[in-house]
Amino acid sequence: MSTSKMKVEGPLTGKVSIRNVTKVYDPDGANVVALEQFSMEVPAGDFIAIVGPSGCGKSTLLNILAGFDTLSQGEVYLDEEPLALVNKPALPGPSRVVVFQQGALFPWKTVLENVTYGLLKQRVMGKSDAEAKAMDLLARSGNLEKIGGLYPNQLSSGMQRRVEILRALINDPKILLLDEPFRAMDTVNKNTMHQHLLKIYQDNPKTIMFITHDLEEALFLADRVIVMTTRPGTLKLDIKVNLPRPRRREMMASKEYLNLRQQTISAVREEAKKAFERGERELA
Ligand code: ADP
Repeated sequence: MSTSKMKVEGPLTGKVSIRNVTKVYDPDGANVVALEQFSMEVPAGDFIAIVGPSGCGKSTLLNILAGFDTLSQGEVYLDEEPLALVNKPALPGPSRVVVFQQGALFPWKTVLENVTYGLLKQRVMGKSDAEAKAMDLLARSGNLEKIGGLYPNQLSSGMQRRVEILRALINDPKILLLDEPFRAMDTVNKNTMHQHLLKIYQDNPKTIMFITHDLEEALFLADRVIVMTTRPGTLKLDIKVNLPRPRRREMMASKEYLNLRQQTISAVREEAKKAFERGERELA
């Protein structure tokens, strides 16, 4: 781990062990094997990006961790404690929060009300403490305290996404699960979001699992990029991104980066080709 991530005192939590996870969806006997014997260890505080062809089981994996879906075989541990087992699937809970591509802010609540919602709902603290904590978090994320009184529809989509990430972080989860959060954005907005997310991560290094189709995004943000095979999804390649933090765009011209990019592109292309050929066979 780079020294720039060492600001937080005490041991980090959020170690995830995914062991031989298989997931079969069987609506009307369709028997879709989404994940097969998928295993991966995520050290506490690591930023992991997961890439792979569409339909390879990325969201399924995140949903199992979040507690939105069950697993058919295998086990998942969080800090050595069972999180999801076949007979005891994970339930949604404050240790894991998900931010999706589609915004999920309450449109009828202000930014401040949205950000404090979880703390107040779970009675973690009183209103004035929650508001002070939210304002502090907003202020540290590029002067967002100024927008505390605004409603989501008064914000740009990038701003909405930043508020959503802060709303997730204020509950101090052990893992932040991000499912293509910047997918719909243009390159300029996306790059700005990357800087904000990296700043948030640097100030508050939590375990992050980030699903994306965008390989450049994966390499720019993560400590490791996991390439999944086409369905049934399993681990194809585990690429360590040994690029210094803080990350800068200029780094994308470096030899190291270009090597990693080439490796990732080749692996994903190989799997996308298999997925395409299977689609052709299934249509034939
Ligand atoms: P990805 O996120 O990589 O695009 P998903 O995890 O969404 O992939 O889906 C993996 C596979 O499981 C796909 O073939 C998808 O059609 C199937 N699948 C996902 N959810 C369900 C469900 N609720 N019922 C049946 N099949 C599903």
